[in-house]
Amino acid sequence: MSTQWLTKTIYVAPSSIDNVGIFSLRPLRAGETIYTVTGKFVRNEYSAVFALLGPNWIGVSKELWLDPDQSNPMNFMNHSCEPNAIVTEGLNVVALRDIPVHEEIVMDYSTTEIDPYWQMDCHCGRATCRKAIRAFQFLPTELRQRYEGQMLATLVAAAPLTSKVG
Ligand SMILES: [Zn+2]
Repeated sequence: MSTQWLTKTIYVAPSSIDNVGIFSLRPLRAGETIYTVTGKFVRNEYSAVFALLGPNWIGVSKELWLDPDQSNPMNFMNHSCEPNAIVTEGLNVVALRDIPVHEEIVMDYSTTEIDPYWQMDCHCGRATCRKAIRAFQFLPTELRQRYEGQMLATLVAAAPLTSKVG
């Protein structure tokens, strides 16, 4: 697949994680907004069948997702158990650390999903790989605490945690 130029800061190219991914076209600074997710909202009750649909959707609240526009980079963004970006307030995808040029930009899919039925296998190959990836509420407490201040507040507030962190 040939490289598709997406924006001034990122491009789509073959990825070792899954087919294609998005990569930095220039060095990015920690905290910098890389792109913003745009799309249309989808509302549905959680169910085992429904959890198989919309692999590129991102959860924004209880039983509410955003289905990214066809040209939005979210459609190409891969999961990693050691992410360098996260979806935060305003649906902005923000760099978690400085990212050098040509590095794949990845997020932890558990930070955009609270569907109890959703799961996927991960082959990111990192030492910390959780292998079976599930919704935010199933993350180890320490990891949840690290992510929750940076995630969409509406999603954290809707996560069905048995014991609220903090
Ligand atoms: Zn992994």
